[in-house]
Amino acid sequence: MRYVIIGAGPAGVVAAETLRSRDPGGEIFLIGDEPEPAYSRMAIPYLLAEQIEESGTHLRHDPNHFEGLDIHRKHERVKRVDTGSGRVILAQGGEMEYDRLLLASGSRAVSPPIDGLDQPGIHHCWTLADARNIAEHAVTGARVVLMGAGFIGCIIMESLVKRGVELTVVEMGDRMVPRMMDQVAGNLIKQWCIERGVDVRTSTRVLSVEKPGPDGTGFLLRCEGAVESLQADLIVVATGVVPAIEYLEGSGLETATGVLVDEQLQTSVAGVYAAGDLCEGFDWSTGERSVNAIQPAAVETGRIAALNMSGAEIPYKGGLGMNVLDTMGLISTSYGRWMGMEGGDSASLLDQEGYRYINLQFQEDLLVGAITLGMTEHVGVLRGLIQSRVRLGLWKQRLLDDPTKIMEAYLGSTQLNGQ
Ligand SMILES: Cc1cc2nc3c(=O)[nH]c(=O)nc-3n(C[C@H](O)[C@H](O)[C@H](O)COP(=O)(O)OP(=O)(O)OC[C@H]3O[C@@H](n4cnc5c(N)ncnc54)[C@H](O)[C@@H]3O)c2cc1C
Repeated sequence: MRYVIIGAGPAGVVAAETLRSRDPGGEIFLIGDEPEPAYSRMAIPYLLAEQIEESGTHLRHDPNHFEGLDIHRKHERVKRVDTGSGRVILAQGGEMEYDRLLLASGSRAVSPPIDGLDQPGIHHCWTLADARNIAEHAVTGARVVLMGAGFIGCIIMESLVKRGVELTVVEMGDRMVPRMMDQVAGNLIKQWCIERGVDVRTSTRVLSVEKPGPDGTGFLLRCEGAVESLQADLIVVATGVVPAIEYLEGSGLETATGVLVDEQLQTSVAGVYAAGDLCEGFDWSTGERSVNAIQPAAVETGRIAALNMSGAEIPYKGGLGMNVLDTMGLISTSYGRWMGMEGGDSASLLDQEGYRYINLQFQEDLLVGAITLGMTEHVGVLRGLIQSRVRLGLWKQRLLDDPTKIMEAYLGSTQLNGQ
């Protein structure tokens, strides 16, 4: 049996290792287009903060790891997949046949259509190559503009500050992390960052970027909103990612935002599976399809897809949409339908000065979503209550009165439900 895996990130690596453990005689090819040893993007903030060396980002530390497992690593870009004949077409010429194929090509960073944003000296923060470019220019005293205060923007902010730069964050939304936090939490995160010396401009849109800036160096960003213009020596663009699926055009595979998969992570074509950031499976909390682009989901789907590719029949229970974010030391979490549901109820408690906030969202007596800020003690319980869809009964009213009673509600309602 010949297995071909496209993408050597966490999903692809775990899949290759799982395949080897399941099929000692199978041929395994792990194809990736980045010139690096397989690495974890999650480690990039630590690299930028100079807490680790590049080797610290590597997923496996033994340079002979894949060779030792008889996994063939190929540094190639896949240009096309021909599902009819079971072949993968490589960008440098050549092709490979497969019996089972895993798509694990992750996401790619995207830029908004802004004049001047494609000039040299403007970088995403998605790959190790991006991190090297940022590290070269983010030096003490450099004026850095970070475009986008989403998940990735917030994660790298602390590393940039630790490098001693003068940091300005420009966010188009009316608060920070608008796709993960409500108004109260997003504004508290903004206040937290401002207190730590970051100039945060929300409801502000970059209109164009010119080079050089008025002082003959760097860039001039023309903006609309809380500021008219900004000067920068370095611009970091963290305005979002999309599944890397362009090469699948014409393959006959069903796609929406990502690659659609069934419960066993098989795509619409038999023998072709998908895992990681690009796969679009079912979300626990909503019952709808979604892309759950986080590393734990990549590892888990990589493992389960490989088990199924090698003959098992294991369902993937789906991911609960859940995010944990550390913004310069302030921990925030959001789960499921944190934005609430039509006709649903909600409860919240805010301690503005103490940077503590909790918001719960209910549908009837089910907890369907939550946000916390500055409190990590409820993470497991909130996740458990939402994921297991425990009927809260009387505990719903008690939580409406005091949303911090989440542990008591969990214990009370799971006993009630005999769970
Ligand atoms: C700065 C940063 C911080 C992050 N922090 C966190 C965090 O704290 N928690 C968390 O859960 N997640 C975090 N993430 C997200 C996490 O890194 C991703 O969810 C994870 O990498 C997804 O793994 P993957 O294997 O699906 O894809 P990837 O890691 O993206 O790997 C896919 C690989 O496939 C390659 N590829 C793409 N197209 C092709 C092609 N046509 N041919 C060959 N190869 C191809 C890509 O270049 C890449 O090397 C962070 C990401 C970044 C950038």
